Order: sequence, then C-alpha cells, then structure tokens
Amino acid sequence: MLEGVIVSNATLHNEDEIQRKDIRIGDTVIVERAGDVIPHILSVDFDKRPKISTKFIFPIKCPSCGSKTVKEFNNVTKKIDAVRRCSSEGYYCDKISIEKLKHFVSKDAFNIDGLGKKIIEGFWKLKLIKFPQDIFKLNYKKIEKLDGWGSLSVENLKYSVNQKKTVSLERFIFSLGIRHIGLENAKLLSKHFISFLKFQNLSKSKNYNDLLNIDGIGETQVTSIKSFFSNEINLKVLDELGEILEIRNVVAKKQNGLLKNKSFLVTGKLNGISRAEIKSLIEENSGITVSSVSNKLNYLIIGEKPTRRKVENAKDLKINIIDQEQFLKMLNKTS
Ligand SMILES: [Zn+2]
Repeated sequence: MLEGVIVSNATLHNEDEIQRKDIRIGDTVIVERAGDVIPHILSVDFDKRPKISTKFIFPIKCPSCGSKTVKEFNNVTKKIDAVRRCSSEGYYCDKISIEKLKHFVSKDAFNIDGLGKKIIEGFWKLKLIKFPQDIFKLNYKKIEKLDGWGSLSVENLKYSVNQKKTVSLERFIFSLGIRHIGLENAKLLSKHFISFLKFQNLSKSKNYNDLLNIDGIGETQVTSIKSFFSNEINLKVLDELGEILEIRNVVAKKQNGLLKNKSFLVTGKLNGISRAEIKSLIEENSGITVSSVSNKLNYLIIGEKPTRRKVENAKDLKINIIDQEQFLKMLNKTS
C-alpha cells in the first residue's frame, strides 16, 4: 500500500539502472510514487535481502528466436542505448514479427479500423497472419467462425481492410517498421524516391550512400535501411505488398490547388481518415494547417466529440465551421 493505493508493479527503467541499484530477484525494495506516474524503485533494503540471492542476468540471446541481443550505439547522443534488443532482421523472430504487424496497422501507418493489437495477436496465434501482406489476404470465412466474430463484424473488417489498399508512399515506408525510420524520416524518403518502384529498386541499385544527401537522414538511418534491404524476407514482403497495394506516387504540392490561401484546423475524430491523412490532403491541395484557433484560421473542421473550447472560440471569431463532408466537397470529393 502506498498513499492508499495498492501497488502491484513498479518500473525498473532499464538494465543499467538495475545494475547500478543492484536490484536482485526476491529483494525488498523501497518504492517511490511521484504524482500519478507509475511508481518506481528507489533502492533496495539490503537488510532484507535473502541469504542466497543472484543477480538478474540479461539474456545475451533473444528468448524468442535465439538471435544475439545488442545495445546499439546512438550516433546522436554518442552513448550506448539503455535498451537491449533482438538483433534479428526480417520476420525471423516471432516476437518482433508480431510487433511489426501491430505497427503496420497502427494509426499513423495503415490505420486499419477494427484491427487492433489484441486482434493482431489473436490472428497471429491462429496462423491467420504472419507477414503484413497476409492482412490483405485474410481468410474471412475462418474468422467468421471464431469466438466474438459474426458476419457483420467480419464484413466491417473486410471493408476497412480493403479501404486501405490505396496508400501514400510515405505511410507505406513508415508502416514497414524499419528501425530509425519514423514518420518524419518516412516523409523525407518518400519525397526522395517519389515512387514505390524506385524505393523497391534500392535493393538492386544499392545506392544507399545517396540517401545521405537527404537533409535529415544520417548514417544511423542509412545503416538501418541497408540492413532492411539486405534481408530476403523483407524483399519478399515488399514484392508481395507491391502486388496487392496501390501505392501512390508522391505528387508535388499543387501551386494553385483548390485550398490555396486557406487554413484549416481539425477538432474531434473524423470518420475513416486520420489526422495525418487529412493534413497531407490539405497540403497536397495548397492549403495550410494551423495548430490553434486564431484570426489566421479560415476553417475549423469538426468531427466526433470536438473540443468545445475550440468550437466556441471559432464561433466568437466568426470562423467557418465545417464538417468532414463539407470539407471533402471543397475538394470535389465525397467520403
Ligand atoms: Zn528475437
């Protein structure tokens, strides 16, 4: 009990911290709880340490696949990472594969509605999916017979999966889960490659060093991309996804798009379109996005459960308040 709260677990941070504080299995520890954050272990009560105690040795081999575990050297901080990772590449390691799949369907990646982390894990265990491309080849007949699924939920899943078969190159690159390639780097890479084919061709051209010319891409990223492309399974995944998906080329921003000189802000949840997607849609059409309601804002797009304060401020400033449909109409589109 701590401040009237039962504490069942506390964070240990990392390997270095455990070594430094000499925390061992079976130890009695002093726990601190600061604010509402997860309590953390302050120190060990050595008087209460059992006579026979052993240090916890971090595995030098991945418990899942047996590959060597490594602590990477961080080029930016010039320090060795605190986190120990499995060094396998591709889909060799089961644990990494599952995480890769979760990342693939996540919000900023393919953003597939109704395909959350738990479902990915379930499908994995049932061998319904192993690689990202399997998501687009799901056996819906089999899923329909599973506990908790019915024809309606299967129809919904099928719909949201099929809806995401068209994807921008930047999202696609991000979704691959290449180490050190986050959203920003994926965007930079997509602008460099323009098309999926050119990106895929990197495995043949091997022009990795060219990537160093991209402002924002450094050696850490290039090494990581190189190791991604030198793995056969990754190349097969790319190949198959390229067959199934429609990966849009990067289009230069229109100089005189339909949204020229117009600024936008979104509040609330939109239907089937993420924040990142709407942002690129606005930017592709020469519009700009702003982060707060002010005189500079032209349109406030409201979705489900909008922030009331934003809506009221917009009303006070007589800013146009529109919904998703009205926004898409501005682009001559419908959802
Ligand atoms: Zn592993």
